[in-house]
Amino acid sequence: MKPNPCLENIAPGYLFPEIAKRRSAYQQAHPELKVISLGVGNTTEPLFDTIADGLVREAQALATAEGYSGYQDEGSAALRQKISEVFYGGRFSIDEIFISDGAKGDVGRLQLLFGAGTPVAVQDPAYPVYVDGSVLIGAGGPHDGTGYAGIAYLPCTPENKFFPDLAKVAPGSLLYICSPNNPTGYVMTRAQLEALVAFANANGAVIIFDAAYSEFIRDKALPKTIFEIAGADACAIEINSFSKPAGFTGVRLGWTALPFGLKYDGGGSVNKAWSRVTATIFNGASNIAQAGGLAALSEKGLQEIRALTDYYLENAHLIKQALEDRGIRTIGGYDSPYVWAQFPGRTSWDVFDELLTKYNIVTTPGSGFGPAGESFVRFSAFGHHADVREACARLAKG
Ligand code: PLP
Repeated sequence: MKPNPCLENIAPGYLFPEIAKRRSAYQQAHPELKVISLGVGNTTEPLFDTIADGLVREAQALATAEGYSGYQDEGSAALRQKISEVFYGGRFSIDEIFISDGAKGDVGRLQLLFGAGTPVAVQDPAYPVYVDGSVLIGAGGPHDGTGYAGIAYLPCTPENKFFPDLAKVAPGSLLYICSPNNPTGYVMTRAQLEALVAFANANGAVIIFDAAYSEFIRDKALPKTIFEIAGADACAIEINSFSKPAGFTGVRLGWTALPFGLKYDGGGSVNKAWSRVTATIFNGASNIAQAGGLAALSEKGLQEIRALTDYYLENAHLIKQALEDRGIRTIGGYDSPYVWAQFPGRTSWDVFDELLTKYNIVTTPGSGFGPAGESFVRFSAFGHHADVREACARLAKG
């Protein structure tokens, strides 16, 4: 038996293992020091009551004859209806909302809608699964140390206001956009999203819009979904998640909004094809997680989401302030749980090592998210207040 050749093209998961290796070597050499991690995107705070009660109630109901349920392939109708109301003003029918076990799984599965022959373009830097998932289905070739062959990397930097050069996007491309962005923390403006949608509609591109951090947006002028933009129904698919706003990183729940208006070149329905794909290789999200999701979207649950995202945003503001007080240029940190710090003329790993050894703080080297991430590091606001305050105090001391 031979491996799938696409698997051989995937670059080994280097970033987080290397971070762990350097952190553990340092900690072993200095066991007396407290190393604080501002490196990962995993949530740290406990679930709030309403959301936890929703999970518990469903688990208990499953132990009763009346409350028992089995497969719910396309997801609970009540949850899909609620998602449409809360996030899209009720404009989508429940058949345009698909419940998932999290955004990452859907990013991987969505590639199956378009196949290996579809050109792929990604923001650079980017959440790694967009490119790795593309390579897994054969839409990208081997990695040459900086990027995968056949994938268009679109640098998004302070110089271009984090807006990609769309001239580099081939007609008929799948275009991955994440806003608020992981790792840069940048949130696209309405005008930028309008330009993207206009481009996609004029060039037969499909935008996969990752809105996993939309609940961190506080500035009312910034769109929380691409479907606030006229024309997006004909060119966009949105993925989203309960992971970060509701603390569901371990519970697992997300969704994809795929409008009826999105068509293949020949006029076929992408929505229908997605229904077919998900029914074929996915048996639905946990009914317990879905009940938790429904509780999270109740009036009280939404207040809890607000409180939880406020908690992490407070961390983000502290980190941003501490860095800027030291004269370090940052992006993000408002409307996003990530702060993207720039260190001109230095490599990301060099900065990572300095932050580890001088301040005992773990970050994520920006170069691990793509070539345009070089000389940046990402600070994550997912952590306990006390740890973040201590990390900021260390930065302030110099
Ligand atoms: N999209 C982005 C941009 C992310 O940063 C993450 C997780 O870190 C995900 C999706 C994955 O979300 P989920 O936990 O729903 O799979």
